[in-house]
Amino acid sequence: MTEPKDQASRLQTIAAAYGVASDVAFGAVAPPLYLSSTYEFAGYDQPRSYDYGRAGNPTRDLLGQALAKLEGGAGAVITASGMAALDLLVGRMGPGDLILAPHDCYGGTMRLLKARANRGHCVVRFVDQGDESAFAAALEDVPALVLIETPSNPLMRVVDIAELAAKSRAAGAAVAVDNTFLSPAIQQPIALGADYVIHSTTKYLNGHSDVIGGAVVAADPVQVDELRNWANVVGSTGAPFDAWLTLRGLRTLFARMEQQQRNAMIVAQYLERHPAVSQVHYPGLAAHPGHRIASRQQRGFGAMLSFELAGGVEAVRRFVAADGYFTLAESLGGIESLVAHPATMTHADMGEEARSRAGISDSLLRLSIGLEAEQDLIAGLEQRLAACAG
Ligand SMILES: *Cc1c(COP(=O)(O)O)cnc(C)c1O
Repeated sequence: MTEPKDQASRLQTIAAAYGVASDVAFGAVAPPLYLSSTYEFAGYDQPRSYDYGRAGNPTRDLLGQALAKLEGGAGAVITASGMAALDLLVGRMGPGDLILAPHDCYGGTMRLLKARANRGHCVVRFVDQGDESAFAAALEDVPALVLIETPSNPLMRVVDIAELAAKSRAAGAAVAVDNTFLSPAIQQPIALGADYVIHSTTKYLNGHSDVIGGAVVAADPVQVDELRNWANVVGSTGAPFDAWLTLRGLRTLFARMEQQQRNAMIVAQYLERHPAVSQVHYPGLAAHPGHRIASRQQRGFGAMLSFELAGGVEAVRRFVAADGYFTLAESLGGIESLVAHPATMTHADMGEEARSRAGISDSLLRLSIGLEAEQDLIAGLEQRLAACAG
């Protein structure tokens, strides 16, 4: 067994250099971008490795191979968005198949699952996966797929992947983990028992807020082939240029993650002490209910956090209207710091009742911590929090 630290260094090298200097045509060090939609056959009934761009593309495949290696999977399918990645798994379900999803999953995930279920494409049940007896009861309905998201969005709740995966498997379900919030630099669900890892590569993997993309990594090579075929059937594979940009972003994943999560810890500790803040949700804080599990199953605590303002919605309005480094925008995982108000932005479609059940209050703000200097981020927050008081 390699030590976890050696493992991380090996992954860092894959992210930085997988596919570098592999160009046979000209010896290009940076992998080339192949945009061609179609490929010449060698002759009558003689296809080469590629025939048509929806089915396969060398640039997209290189990104898929790099992500599969990073996640410890057999292969990956690169899709046009994170939602398309999720739908690759969901779209294969039959009318009676049950999907068990977290009650506080990503808003778009909830919307997609409900839309599929409403059309009779599958059955969906949302459950608090941190509630042991609720999860056990839900498994009795024999789900086909258990979807896990940890840390959750936006409350950063942490669940034990190894434990949930073992129980799900015992109940005969396949397990998919949405690893978007941490990336393989910090967490590797397949090593913890997952069958699939889903990514919105839009976030940390690309890391520069200029691509929408997704990926499904599968542990089993047979499933990789099936997913690849299905992606070709429904036509949801990603664009080559996006794959090229994402591979370029991936080069610095470990360096970005390291700095961004260091900044996040400093911000979380600062907010925890501030009188205008009533609660901070960051698994890196010892007081966070998921701290122990996160310390065990993650290599770090990530760069996402959320917090509640003591002054309610009025304070939220003032906080987002004030100046200071955090751009009011959805999305996350980029090099720039963002602030989002889940109730009116990312989780608006969920509806008030579902939000309140999931514990997402109107005074909750979510931060994606970027690469800016820590002093500037703290100064920006200082200014915004001062504005909250009016
Ligand atoms: C953004 C996000 C998605 C959806 O990805 P898109 O690339 O926006 O389609 C799914 N899951 C999580 C956790 C996300 O943050």
